[in-house]
Amino acid sequence: MDKEGSLIVISGFSGAGKGTLVKKLVENYDNYALSVSMTTREPRPGEIDGVHYHFATDEEFERIIADGGMIEYAGYCGHYYGTPRDFVTQRLAEGKDVILEIEIQGAQKVRRQFPNAVLLFVMAPSGRELYQRLTGRGTETDDVIRKRMWRAVDESEGIDSYDYVVINDDLDECVAQVNSIVRAAHARPSQNQEFIKKIRLELKDILKGEES
Ligand code: 5GP
Repeated sequence: MDKEGSLIVISGFSGAGKGTLVKKLVENYDNYALSVSMTTREPRPGEIDGVHYHFATDEEFERIIADGGMIEYAGYCGHYYGTPRDFVTQRLAEGKDVILEIEIQGAQKVRRQFPNAVLLFVMAPSGRELYQRLTGRGTETDDVIRKRMWRAVDESEGIDSYDYVVINDDLDECVAQVNSIVRAAHARPSQNQEFIKKIRLELKDILKGEES
């Protein structure tokens, strides 16, 4: 079997509950590693540097881009967000399924570099529910909430490029569904190339043995 892990990209509208979903996924199953992104936005109350994000200045972020240290990065509502490369390559090599919780532009860049990546889009059960979650969280100003709602409208145009859509209505069900999708993705032929080659050779060897 192919020992390398898979890249799992999880996108979704701001307020769809991706953060909680991803946290639960990592807690409930031991095959996942969560990539910690870098951002230039301000930490929200309770966010810890190195845990929720690596918080950086524009200059620091741009230096890492220039050094090739990001797998992908994108601008979102006026700030940079990016995926540091080393953590991802190390964990994949260890056989972990690495979760990237990133927006849609970044997801497309990952797809080009890692054709076997599994792309999931998480939705709230309705637009009204999304709006209520965003306002209820109390961490963003009205202006930021409006920007994020408009961004959701834009992002809704790109959902067709994802492999799966999951609706985050009941959190536990959603976590189990995402895990099933990832397990199923491991059964794709592209994920099992080594195994397929091995069987092919083995069959030929048996046939050659019979002929001689
Ligand atoms: P937030 O500010 O709410 O934490 O994140 C805003 C958006 O940025 C979310 O859609 C989130 O998925 C996305 N995001 C977080 N980290 C990254 C990253 O490393 N790369 C990209 N492209 N998007 C990210």
